[in-house]
Amino acid sequence: MSELVLYEAEGPIAWVSLNRPEYRNAQNVALLRELDAAYGRAMADDAIKVVVLRGNGKHFSAGHDIGTPGRDIDKAFERVATPWYPHDNKPGAEAAYVREADAYLGLCRRWRDMPKPTIAMVHGACIAGGLMLAWCCDLIVASDDAFFADPVVRMGIPGVEYFAHAHVLGPRKAKEFLFLGGRMSAADAERAGMINRVVPRDELEGAVREWALKIGEMPRFGLALTKQAINMAEDRMGLRDTMDGVYGLHHLAHAHNTLASADYIGGQDVKSMKASLKEEK
Ligand code: ZN
Repeated sequence: MSELVLYEAEGPIAWVSLNRPEYRNAQNVALLRELDAAYGRAMADDAIKVVVLRGNGKHFSAGHDIGTPGRDIDKAFERVATPWYPHDNKPGAEAAYVREADAYLGLCRRWRDMPKPTIAMVHGACIAGGLMLAWCCDLIVASDDAFFADPVVRMGIPGVEYFAHAHVLGPRKAKEFLFLGGRMSAADAERAGMINRVVPRDELEGAVREWALKIGEMPRFGLALTKQAINMAEDRMGLRDTMDGVYGLHHLAHAHNTLASADYIGGQDVKSMKASLKEEK
């Protein structure tokens, strides 16, 4: 395994850690592919009943990589989540549409469908693409210093590619979250039903371990069927169809940005996005 994602087995628990702390665990495709491999390892191991996803360093994840030296949006990569063809030699809106369909939306959907329960253990920043990794987990436990934001409306884009906003927050709160684009505290996220539980920072790992061990006592197949049942209910409520439809709006926005501004993210960069999140709401 590369060191972009670390894997550790402890009894029935697989601890999977995002490991780009120097870049607040910003997600390039290399990291996402390592994450997919780590999840695959946990699925293949019969001793593992539950997977925990966490981030090394001060933050869970600052989102997709929009400006580190390891940014790899133009690089070819082998498809694992979808049957899409290579994106790197494609013109116009096609390249981003194809790349994000696999690397962002496709991988997150694939991870949501994994048969074993997953818990996101969130501390610090969980921003934009960071939400995608947390939302496609089954449970989210956060520390009281955690905060959540999807500020991509500032880029002219209607939310991140995995468009679960209206389902995980409800339509009213989702609009507030997106229109204002600021930070949502862990306490507010819990109140809105977006996360399961908030605990003090120094109790986070213990609280997650306690839940994971309890889940580990359940029968594997029972857990898999229960997860499928709830996901099916969510899809019947429109989650999957909404994501498919909004993915088109998302790429209308990328294409519009390319035509009307400096680049496909509306000329925004790490500095401007960070500045927009500086103040607490
Ligand atoms: Zn996008």
